[in-house]
Amino acid sequence: MLKGILNYAHYLLEESINKGETVIDATCGNGNDTLFLSNVVGQTGHVLAFDIQEKAINTTKRLIIDNDRTNVSLIHDSHATVSHYIPKELHGKIGGAIFNLGYLPKSDKTVITKGESTTDAIDSILSCLKKDGLIVIVVYHGHDGGRQEKESVLKHVVHLDQKEFNVLQYGFINQKNDPPFILAVQKRK
Ligand code: SAM
Repeated sequence: MLKGILNYAHYLLEESINKGETVIDATCGNGNDTLFLSNVVGQTGHVLAFDIQEKAINTTKRLIIDNDRTNVSLIHDSHATVSHYIPKELHGKIGGAIFNLGYLPKSDKTVITKGESTTDAIDSILSCLKKDGLIVIVVYHGHDGGRQEKESVLKHVVHLDQKEFNVLQYGFINQKNDPPFILAVQKRK
């Protein structure tokens, strides 16, 4: 059975993250992925959730409180600064991460994720990820600026050393209107 893009992104993370781990939502937006990760790691785990927009941080905070979750730290900052928020003792132990690229749904379409900060964040997280851990990137690219980001992220991950990383692309190639696709990077050692 072929899974839809968001279902497959969550499936990959559920399969690779253990209870009690610290994980990262690099673009918390409306908080759906943050809540999902919070449930996957359980009360003994921890989610670091980033967004540059206060509106996104507030929406996510409300969702987390409404669902009685207490294992989330909301960080109103760019994911490009993620290394500042990962303590030394968690280097090599981050359980996984998700990026949902693009703009906040039903909000300002000019505030978008951008190639340079996205690839900086991917590299920082990869350096702290556990062996066999995954970064799952959901690439939306139909909006203004989306194509440039897609190209720079693809160019970046395609060059990751295959001895160190497995890089997967998953998507539906017969869909119209620039359908989103998944890039998943697994750290091999
Ligand atoms: N994962 C979210 C959810 O479940 O609702 C959707 C995320 S939305 C597609 C993309 C988000 O990325 C927006 O909320 C936007 O503000 C945020 N964003 C853009 N640039 C960012 C950056 N450099 N660091 C962190 N978040 C960023």
